[in-house]
Amino acid sequence: MSGEPLWMRDPLAILADAPGGVLIEGGVIVRLLGPGERPHGPHRVFDASRHVVLPGLINTHHHFYQTLTRALPAALDKTLFPWLEALYPIWARLTPEALDAAATVAMAELLLSGCTTTTDHHYVFPGGLEDGIAIEAEAARRLGIRAVLTRGSMDLSQRDGGLPPDSVVQDRDTILADSERLVAQFHDPAPHAMLQIALAPCSPFSVTTGLMRDTAALAARHGLLLHTHLAETTDEAAFCRSRFGCSPLDYLESCDWLRPGTWLAHGIHFDAGEIGRLAAAGIGVTHCACSNQLLASGTCPVCAMESAGVAVGLGVDGSASNDGSNLMGEVRAAFLLQRGANGIAAVSHLDALRWATEGSARCLRRPELGRIAVGAAADLALFALDELRFSGAGDPIAALVLCGAQRADRVMVAGRWVVVNGAIAGLDISALMQRHADAARRLSGGSDATRRW
Ligand SMILES: [Zn+2]
Repeated sequence: MSGEPLWMRDPLAILADAPGGVLIEGGVIVRLLGPGERPHGPHRVFDASRHVVLPGLINTHHHFYQTLTRALPAALDKTLFPWLEALYPIWARLTPEALDAAATVAMAELLLSGCTTTTDHHYVFPGGLEDGIAIEAEAARRLGIRAVLTRGSMDLSQRDGGLPPDSVVQDRDTILADSERLVAQFHDPAPHAMLQIALAPCSPFSVTTGLMRDTAALAARHGLLLHTHLAETTDEAAFCRSRFGCSPLDYLESCDWLRPGTWLAHGIHFDAGEIGRLAAAGIGVTHCACSNQLLASGTCPVCAMESAGVAVGLGVDGSASNDGSNLMGEVRAAFLLQRGANGIAAVSHLDALRWATEGSARCLRRPELGRIAVGAAADLALFALDELRFSGAGDPIAALVLCGAQRADRVMVAGRWVVVNGAIAGLDISALMQRHADAARRLSGGSDATRRW
């Protein structure tokens, strides 16, 4: 590849003040161009005149392994707790081969939808899956996507009053030692890092208070982000009241988690005072519009949070409660849900795009991501409006959200083309789907008894 800068010229539309396009060098955006401007010096050119250019979308909540249990009959039409109870015994059979297929499928779906950075919250470590995070890291490297992988955990099983069965939890010492190992092996704290590690005990009803506190201390020692599910359902709030005598947020505070670098998945059941406390503590919240609707968990107060100063990002959530990994689809879902809840004037398509870009970047404390600006990473999603769904569309950027864009034509991560003509370079999708479907069938019992076909 030539070392000369690349001029992405004259986009059809671009989510930045750069009608002449952007100049990219060394994986970074080095210049925004006005109308009629052209770069000085030698450079390569990519003609973007048929593309709508967005900052690469950032997914701040997922469980890759759940692509293996999409639309599972045993888990259909259930709210969170019974949904989890139906799935835990199946997830307990997860193998390294199955996780590799699942992570590859999830990240491929994300990339093709215009996502350039993803997190994953992996908290299921049955015997034999000790290298689960390494498997995900390798899949991310192979695909060329930027990743923040979280070392998730569960240590509170039914025996001790938690929700998960004994078969899917680990002990606290094992979890903490493994977290240290993964940070030493994989975490790159530098700006523009392709891979970072964060720590992510699963939820109040599957993790002990001791592990919550020790994890916060470990994160503080290494400067890591903390992530967990919180305030997702009224069942969770009832669990916290009965077990800890307080709200989920009070409980989180008692675990030393109310601090910058903590970001929460869902954040639905907070009152105004709690939203103020989130803002004051510098905590981010991932809105998972599809998942929240599918599980009927409630509606995240996104507008109230943003007004208070809380960073709000988007996440597709696990593929057993969405059940897809299309982040552009999630932008549309969040736009419709929040407009319906807050009114026309409160939410525009640009707000929804901001949640998936700058908002998500704020949750991950990555100011170099999520925007098209000088010094920002050259992570870009390019959409062509040549599908039937866009025919006759006026505003090209609004069209992506209102007409329901599904697939990017091109995606660039760190200045490198990862998706070209709607396909991921070097990935055989048919072979991947076969491998993934076989793994899903084996995981759910190896027979068609648990499936409807
Ligand atoms: Zn989740």
